[in-house]
This record gives sequence, C-alpha cells and structure tokens, in this order.
Amino acid sequence: MIDAIASKPVHAAMSQFERRDGELLVGGQKLSILAIRAGQTPFYAYDRGLLRTRVAQLRQAMPAQLKLHYAMKANPMPALVGMMAGLVDGIDVASAGEMKLALNAGADPQEISFAGPGKRDVELLQAVAAGVLINVESPRELPVLASASQELGLPARVALRVNPDFELKGSGMKMGGGPKQFGIDAEQIPKNLAWIGRLGLAFEGFHLFAGSQNLRAEAICEAQAKSYHLALRLAEHAPSPVKFLNLGGGFGIPYFPGEQRLDLAPIADNLQRLIDRASSELPQAGLVIELGRYLVAEAGVYVTRIIDRKMSRGQLYLVADGGLNHHLAASGNFGQVIRKNYPVTIGNKAGESARESASVVGPLCTPLDLLADRIELPIAEVGDLVVVFQSGAYGRSASPEGFLGHPNCVELLV
Ligand SMILES: *Cc1c(COP(=O)(O)O)cnc(C)c1O
Repeated sequence: MIDAIASKPVHAAMSQFERRDGELLVGGQKLSILAIRAGQTPFYAYDRGLLRTRVAQLRQAMPAQLKLHYAMKANPMPALVGMMAGLVDGIDVASAGEMKLALNAGADPQEISFAGPGKRDVELLQAVAAGVLINVESPRELPVLASASQELGLPARVALRVNPDFELKGSGMKMGGGPKQFGIDAEQIPKNLAWIGRLGLAFEGFHLFAGSQNLRAEAICEAQAKSYHLALRLAEHAPSPVKFLNLGGGFGIPYFPGEQRLDLAPIADNLQRLIDRASSELPQAGLVIELGRYLVAEAGVYVTRIIDRKMSRGQLYLVADGGLNHHLAASGNFGQVIRKNYPVTIGNKAGESARESASVVGPLCTPLDLLADRIELPIAEVGDLVVVFQSGAYGRSASPEGFLGHPNCVELLV
C-alpha cells in the first residue's frame, strides 16, 4: 500500500482510491452512498486511511529525529485537523482563527507555530495567551509581543521568520528571496535578535520557507541546505541557543499529465546530513519541516453531480451543480499561470471503457467556471457524479463559496 502510493505514475494518481461495482470508493464507501450520507452534492470527501498512510510513508522515509508539522491552511476542516494533530508533531497556523481551531482540535500549544504577515495586535495577544510559538514576520511585532507578555505575565515564545537571500528554484509559488512581504530580510535579522534579547522575549529559533508545490528533489535539498547554513550564521547573533529550526517544506504533488512524483530519498539523505551537523553545531535545535498539500491533497476528492448535458457547435458540455465556487484551484484560477486540467473522472462509471470528449463546467455565469476542458471521460448522463482528484488541499476554504449564491458544499472525513 505504502509503496503503491509512492511509485505510481501520475494518472494512477487516480488509483489511490479503490473501486467496487464500477464505483469509486472513499474510505471504503461508494460515492453514491456518500452522496446520500452528505445529504447533497457537491461535497468533498477525505479518506482517513489514505491520510494515515501518507504520514506513515513519509515518516518511514524521513530521518527519525525530523519533526513533521502540518500547515493547516491546506485543509482546515476541523475533524481533519483533529486527526492530523494526532499523526504529526505540530500544527502550523496562519491566523488566530486557525489557532483557535487547532487548539479546539486538540493540538498541543507547545507544538503550534503561528506565522503570517499582518498579524493584528489582538492576534499576537491571543497567541501569547495560548502559549504557542510566534513566527515573527516584522519588527513591528516585537514590542507588541513584549507588552502582551508583560500584561499577561506569560512568556512570548518567538522564532524569527527569515526572508532568505535565495529562492526555491522551480517552485509553483515563491515565498522567499528578493523583496517579499513574508519574514524579515536575512540582513536585518542580527539587529532584531539583539532587540529580542533586550525585550526579554523567549527566543526559540528560526523559520525559513522558500516556496511551495515543488517536484524537484534537488531544488528542495538545495533550499534546505542553504536555509540551514543561513540559520547557522544567524544563530551567532541569537540571545539564546536555537531550539527550533523550521526549514520549510514545499513538497509538491503531481497534478497534471507528465508530472512525476517527488523523489523523497535524496531529501531524506540531505536532511539526515543536516541533522547530524546540527547535533554538534546547534546541539539544542530540533529540525522541522512543514507540509500542507503533500500530506492531504491526494486523500481528497471533490464530487459534483451532472445536472445537464448539452452540445454547443459540436462540443459536449457536462454542466455540474458545483464548480469554482467550491473548487477554485481545479478551475485554474488559484495561482496557475497556464490553465491545466486536474485529473477528473465519472465516479460512478469508473469501470466503463467507452469514452467521449467532454468539458465539465459548473453552474456559475462565468466562463472561468471550468472544471475540465475537453477531456476524455466515460460517457456520462444527467445524475452521474463527476470526481475531481487531488482535491484534499486548497479546496473548499480556498474558494469563493458565496460567489453567485449557490449552496455551500459539504465535507466528509470517511
Ligand atoms: C502555505 C504554507 C505552507 C504549506 O504549503 P504547501 O504547499 O501546502 O505544502 C507551509 N508553510 C508556510 C509558511 C506556508 O505559508
């Protein structure tokens, strides 16, 4: 099972889910039954077994000493966050709202870290009250944290998020290097470390995050090694030993035809070398990676029902009851430069070999509401269930649900 996930080619991405009687199964349940259980279409369904397998597979591949964090912005469904909190070593949150959700879901505040530009004063106060680690992204946060700490009589646990002087090559989204709204420029770190010392904040370490959705192991290794070396240099200026060193993540998943799965072995070797070095160079530091989509995306599907089948000048349109209002990313409008189709099938006709070319669109009055552009699908009728794979991350919460006033979607953890 574990190896099967690791080594399948891309469009076998769709084969992580089993089939029974021509129907796709999520968590061992047929889609048509899940649609009834959900009470409606459209819905998202996340497979607990696949989530567990994914974390187990990653743990097995990575050095035992490495800490694994879940970046919950990828999928903040409360039940899923609760489950992930029991599987990983920490949860990364990016707002006080996410922090509250993670705490309610049972995450240990000691193992929650709070990043994000534009943290409001009240959010910083909430974070100190909760006892989580704050990844400081601006010098402005430091005096606010010092007064919060004084007011509450509690330590303000801080790490500095560093905007490195390099980028993650080949990344879907770059989030470090050059001018950025994230973190504090590396060259400004020493004076902020001195200020942390003067303010008496509880310094714990550094957070570096270079980018997202990367499928090139060597680029990830390079960014992690550079991050480590930068942190080592900066640690000389720290008011106390580094205990926490978050080297970021950026592990991508294959979405589109021709994309290969990320090769974990070289990343694991590289991290082991860094951990070995840290044991003498930063002896108190625990190394952390933070992953969102890599942990959850492939365990989830979006399911929407066909409500019309119509031809326009020779092109077949399957019109579904949901689209970009629930799944902006699959429509191509969430950061893609060139629109490509997510893997899609007809979930209740999984075994059928007769195929036709069709476009799957949602119900919104905009041509952007396109889930699949002229792809080969099993021959579908009104009432059939369209399945969009690789949908467990950046789905519902990353979509404009209110746009055009259609019903909200439902989420199931099965
Ligand atoms: C978004 C984000 C992540 C998660 O990115 P994925 O591509 O989902 O793995 C991790 N860390 C930070 C700081 C982020 O902003």
